[in-house]
Amino acid sequence: MQAAFEEAKKGLGEGGIPIGSVLVRDGKIIGRGHNKRVQSGDPTAHAEIDCLRNAGRIGSYDDCILYSTLSPCFLCSGAAMLFKIPKVVLAEHKNFMGGEAVMRAHGIEVVNVKEPEITEFFGEWTKKHPELWDEDIGELKHGLKGHEFMHHKKVHRKLTSKR
Ligand SMILES: [Zn+2]
Repeated sequence: MQAAFEEAKKGLGEGGIPIGSVLVRDGKIIGRGHNKRVQSGDPTAHAEIDCLRNAGRIGSYDDCILYSTLSPCFLCSGAAMLFKIPKVVLAEHKNFMGGEAVMRAHGIEVVNVKEPEITEFFGEWTKKHPELWDEDIGELKHGLKGHEFMHHKKVHRKLTSKR
């Protein structure tokens, strides 16, 4: 979990959403990642997805554990279910409750190790960036407008090339 927390802090250092994840097999980290929504402009670039991408094609996940600094959302819970990852370990769900019940219903062992340091770290961040966080979990009400929207580099390029 400490390595996942390091990833979260790396994400923060890049101006991103500070959630980190690692994939472990036989006690060894075989993949690591952090949320890159802001950095890459990709709404699906969640920490767990980035971690699985970085681990590459490993074939089977039946001896793997997926660690995340936050309760995995439905997207990431879905990835764990799809790839039949048998165990998911999370640091907290006080700031956000993801798909834990759905994962358990699919036979995944879900363990919340309750790390107060990580809970506080992420809670502080969501207080400072409520809109960015709402966007990440699909809670933003009216999409991005005006100058925020222009920050999306592809849209920005499209608009400017039409002039
Ligand atoms: Zn997610």
